[in-house]
Parts: sequence; C-alpha cells; structure tokens
Amino acid sequence: MRLGVAAAMVEGSLLAGDVAIEDGHVQAVGLSPAGRSGLAAPGFVDVQVNGFAGVDFLVADAAGYARAAEALARTGVTAFQPTLISSPPEVCAEALSTLAALDGGVDGAQVLPAHLEGPFLSPLHHGAHNPANLRPADRELAAQLCAAGPVGYVTVAPEIEGGLALVEHLVQRGLIVSLGHSDARGDAAIAAYNRGARAVTHIFNAMRRWAPRDPGLPGVALSRPDVFVTAIVDNVHLAAETVRLILAGTRGRLVLITDAIEAAGLGDGSYHLGDRSVQVHGLEARLADGTLAGSVLAMDRAVRNLMGHGASLETALDAATRTPARLLRRPDLGELRPGARADVVVLDDGLAVRRTLIAGREVHAGR
Ligand code: ZN
Repeated sequence: MRLGVAAAMVEGSLLAGDVAIEDGHVQAVGLSPAGRSGLAAPGFVDVQVNGFAGVDFLVADAAGYARAAEALARTGVTAFQPTLISSPPEVCAEALSTLAALDGGVDGAQVLPAHLEGPFLSPLHHGAHNPANLRPADRELAAQLCAAGPVGYVTVAPEIEGGLALVEHLVQRGLIVSLGHSDARGDAAIAAYNRGARAVTHIFNAMRRWAPRDPGLPGVALSRPDVFVTAIVDNVHLAAETVRLILAGTRGRLVLITDAIEAAGLGDGSYHLGDRSVQVHGLEARLADGTLAGSVLAMDRAVRNLMGHGASLETALDAATRTPARLLRRPDLGELRPGARADVVVLDDGLAVRRTLIAGREVHAGR
C-alpha cells in the first residue's frame, strides 16, 4: 500500500517521495511518483497523559481506554503512557490492575506501561495533586504499586526524605525515573541524575525556581546533556520566551508532553483529574483556586505550537517522536524507516492530522 504522500520524516530528516507499507511495516521510503502533498511522520509518543476525550485513566475501564486510545490516534498519537496522578494506594493499584488486564490490547494508540506521577512528590510543589495523597519516599509502597500492574516510569521529588535512595532503587529495577513536583536545590537534582534519573517532568512547572547561585531542578536539567526535558507547550504553562530558552538549551533532548486530562477534546466545562475538580476555559484547566491542572492540549497542536516558537519541522517532530522513544528506551517507537513498524501519522501542509496508522492499519482517516 502506498500512502500517496509528497515526503516523509525519515530518521529525523525530511525525504521527498512516497512511502510504501506492507505487512504492518514500512517497506520503502523516497518512492516516486510522490504525492502532491502530505507528510508522513512517525506516530507521536506521549509520555504524560492523564486522560482524554472524557476518560480519566485513574478510573477508566477497558472501554474507556479504548475510547481514549482511539481519540488520541486522531491527534496523531500512536503510543502513550497513561499517567496516574497521586492518589490513595488502593485507587492507584486498582487503576494499574485495569491496565494489566488490557494486556496492551485496545484499538487505537498503543497503551504503554503507566507513568506514576507521584505519590512521592514535594508538598511544596504539589500543583494539582491533592496534598493529602502525597507520601514520603517508600520503597515498599513503590514495590506494591509496581506489582499491581505495568509501571514503566515514575516521577519522583528527589529531595524528600528517602527520595535519593528511592530514585536509585527504581533505576536499578529498570524503571525510568523523572524528577518533578520538586523543591530540589541544584545539588539534590545533580545527585539524583548521577544515580540514573533520566528526565525532568514538565520543566519549570511545579518546581523550585532557578536562582543565580542555585539552578534548582530546571537549571540542572537544562545544563546536563544526559537529561531529557519534558515540557507542556500549550501556550499556557510556559511563556514564549521560556519555550525558546528550552529549545535553545535542549538540542535533541526536548520531549513534548500533553499532560492532557479527560477534558481534552471536549470543550469548556467541569471535569475531574483524579479526586480534584477542574474547570476548563479555552486552553486552560484549573482548580477552583486557580492552580493549573494538566492541560487540554493535543500532541499535534503541541508540535505546531513548538514550530510557532521557532522550532524547525525536524526539531518539532523529533520532540514528539524519536526523542520520547529514546527517553523510554524504545527503539521500536518513534521512527519511520524501512523495516520499522508502520506507526505513521500523515499530516497536511498545515500539519493537521489526516490519517493515523498503527502497525500499518488505519485507525483514523480524516476528512
Ligand atoms: Zn504534574
């Protein structure tokens, strides 16, 4: 099957020509005749999404996952980490057992192991997390949660009591650790990255500020070439200048995340994020006290927003595809090249999603 596109983003470079798909894989790229328009890119990978299209992953059932996965595919996402906000251990364990029962199998975007955003976070930077649900670093609780279902990624505040030891423990277990919701000073962030933490969670949001003699978590993360920087580029969470600074400082380490909540794709109104009530107005999702509570961002829009801040097409697409795949150590994701699984999004000239294929099967065909 030919996609009929004019070009494709192949291993980070734009290549003119059509793309052929066979048996669920990319068979060939750079083919002529090329289509008149359309760009084939690797499917997007979202490492932080709490919910989508009316579904909150903390309480979703299998049908909910299927609905969200299908709606995410319409935004070009072909794989995502359901992200669980800090919640009582039994609630989190229940959500993880639902995820385990899916066994990877829903139509639509591929469901990856969960991202636990908490509960081992700083009460000083809880953001939209209910402070009552936060816990000191606790290996036993972490082990219980990991036993309840598939967990691949944990956001931890390294400076809380036992935090560094927990980071080290989770890294040794093969989990990906990101630092966030944290009051870490620079030295605590450095210590955690030296112990194998790999990323920063939504840089600049919910963390100690970068000061002249204390770079804090954001300054350390930006300065280290071994750290992936995740950011919510929805034109709400970060000022344009901040995004441009992140772009300049990351060079291949920027990972776009949506941090979307169930309201994403539904419009204004009252929604939930875990046990918190959220009001959505336009692009903003907030608690009653005004605290930002996730986003209503979609990944295709994040890519366009990043280009609006000066990123090249290659840089913007990398931040939604190959870089999150590298962060997750998943060479099977985020690449479009001969032999790769055909997780592909076809974008029009305005970078709107026209088609989404997962393992070569069309799961979304736009108008
Ligand atoms: Zn957060």
